[in-house]
Amino acid sequence: MKILVINTGSSSLKYQLIDMQKETVLAKGLCDRIGIDNSFLKHTKAGSDPVVIEKDLINHKVAIKEVINALTDPKIGVISNMNEITAVGHRVVHGGEKYKQSTIIDEKVIAAIRECIELAPLHNPPNIVGIEACQNIMPNVPMVAVFDTAFHQTMPKYAFLYALPYEMYEKYGVRKYGFHGTSHKYVSERTAAFLNKPLEDMKIVTCHLGNGASICAVKNGKSVDTSMGFSPLAGLAMGTRSGTIDPAVVKFLMEKEKMSIKDVDDYLNKKSGVLGISGVSSDFRDIEAAANEGNERAALAMDIFCYRVKKYIGEYSAVMDGVDAVVFTAGIGENNGLVRSKAVKGLEYLGIEIDDEKNQVKGKEMDISASGAKVRTLVIPTNEELAIARETLGLIK
Ligand code: AMP
Repeated sequence: MKILVINTGSSSLKYQLIDMQKETVLAKGLCDRIGIDNSFLKHTKAGSDPVVIEKDLINHKVAIKEVINALTDPKIGVISNMNEITAVGHRVVHGGEKYKQSTIIDEKVIAAIRECIELAPLHNPPNIVGIEACQNIMPNVPMVAVFDTAFHQTMPKYAFLYALPYEMYEKYGVRKYGFHGTSHKYVSERTAAFLNKPLEDMKIVTCHLGNGASICAVKNGKSVDTSMGFSPLAGLAMGTRSGTIDPAVVKFLMEKEKMSIKDVDDYLNKKSGVLGISGVSSDFRDIEAAANEGNERAALAMDIFCYRVKKYIGEYSAVMDGVDAVVFTAGIGENNGLVRSKAVKGLEYLGIEIDDEKNQVKGKEMDISASGAKVRTLVIPTNEELAIARETLGLIK
């Protein structure tokens, strides 16, 4: 059984074809600059070098066609024809309150994803375009939507409601939804398997630290709180996103800098975070290098980021009445030992302590706890594509 996993952005489309028998990636790639000039497809067959194909990808449908062409190509392909694709799993950012789990896509599901557009105006529209393009080209192949928000639908009401007049929740669904759910679910399940303990008995803080970053309190296998909110802008400072700020800053900036609502939205989403503080980059490799060369603002950006991670670890330990494991994942969490060590420094009183040598690990599963530490601190690489493929297979079976 081969599952095609699709993650569509407004001008990009990432894909992986996964053989579910051994859970191996047969091929993966990216269509970039869809609908813009100089568009291309970068395709990698497992075990081979990437191939870049320059093509006029005028829309997502054309992009999907090119993906299928690449997958079935005699040289760079991995299947002989499209019929070998058992099902398609689509990453969908927002499922609102309706979807607590992944679901097989039909017209009703597409309509429901459409209804959530006002909650995720940048993400859900390209997700729908991706689904419809695939349906058009593969009309008989079952498709599944895997929602970023679904895992967090177990949060209790007192955790997900904002202290706004209740009507705003009733009228518009203004509440915390949380994101990166597929990743938080996957790494919490891997953590239990790695430690050989039942997930149902564990209290885990999962730290998904990538360009977008969020933390989740996973108690007995369920999300009970998470740092992102109504949108993926809340919580931690991120590559270019501010994370949580005092909402009064919005009005202040609009008045002082003569910004429109759209200007402020762009400012908080694209120009803030560690990029805004450091003035150097949104990428932690650049920030760490600059800090090492004595750039004080780069060092400050790093400190702010790690300070917030530490606060959430403490906060979520309190929320769950304790913690058994702290898990680091995604680009920064998996690869940046300095961030990990700064984020847990001083938490020995909670039983969290790491071993400096083990903390050098990059990109592989490892228990980095100091010997005798009460709480396990782990690095668990996330694999959202595999998680989507598993959910897809589970549903079509
Ligand atoms: P993501 O959004 O999960 O791809 O994470 C992007 C962030 O992870 C960037 O800030 C990178 O600096 C960091 N990152 C990704 N890969 C590595 C690596 N191999 N070594 C150090 N940092 C990395």
